[in-house]
Amino acid sequence: MELCALFHTLIADLDGIYDPALYNDRLLLGLKGTMSEAELHILKQRMYQGRLSKARRGELQFALPVGYVWSPTGEIQFDPDEQVQQVVRFIFRKFEELGTLGGLVRYLAHHQIQLGVRVREGPGKGELVWRRPNRATLQMVLKHPLYAGTYVYGRRQEDPRRKEPERPRTGRVVMTTDEWLVLLPDRCPAYISLEQYERNQARLEANRARADAMGAARRGPAHFTGLVVCARCGCRLTVHYDGGGPLHTYECVERWTHYGEPKCQHLAGLCLDTFVSQQVLAALSASRFRIVAHRH
Ligand SMILES: [Zn+2]
Repeated sequence: MELCALFHTLIADLDGIYDPALYNDRLLLGLKGTMSEAELHILKQRMYQGRLSKARRGELQFALPVGYVWSPTGEIQFDPDEQVQQVVRFIFRKFEELGTLGGLVRYLAHHQIQLGVRVREGPGKGELVWRRPNRATLQMVLKHPLYAGTYVYGRRQEDPRRKEPERPRTGRVVMTTDEWLVLLPDRCPAYISLEQYERNQARLEANRARADAMGAARRGPAHFTGLVVCARCGCRLTVHYDGGGPLHTYECVERWTHYGEPKCQHLAGLCLDTFVSQQVLAALSASRFRIVAHRH
């Protein structure tokens, strides 16, 4: 508006024409702007309230996880494909037996067991496709309360502080169970009992706590954490500390972790750290600038 006033540009809407250089017109324009902002807010709020009250009745539709489909009348039901159901049941049975997510990923990969997924959008929507499972999908299956028959809404909520501009899906954070907005038990057919669901959550949590206790890799003495890339497959190498000690190994395990593929390759950390450090120092001392060396 400042710019328009400067160049004597007129602004028009449905009700009239305004000259931002004039005090009265400018005041009116500002007021209209504020009002439409408020209107937008109310509109958004109403839409949100609408969604929320629909969710409270268990009627709000969302993308269902593997093994479920929406019926034409708007109810959640098992996927009509018998094999899809069998695989979902098998995943829960196998997790009971193996006890870890990683074990489950590798077992399914080894036996080439695939998940029957419904296409979500575009041409062929609703069609069944078979995909190899990855770690994230399996974790979602194990954590989703729907498999125990519970309809939930608001497991992830928006945190405006974490939102990135122009990226509408960012800033969503996972909430704890008591922060979920809607939780309706016994709303749909269940693959597992509530007890088994709780047991699985406790197990996942215990596994996570144990992994944390073994030490986060980032704190270790390895020089090139997150910087080394595998020449064979292009994945980033992770650092593994043997028994929490100072000795470390660079491992290419990304496809092993996420898809249960065989481990690619690994390399003793100390020799790589020494080699690269020597190369860097040699390159620096050869340059014609005087360099004050800092210890890494
Ligand atoms: Zn590799």
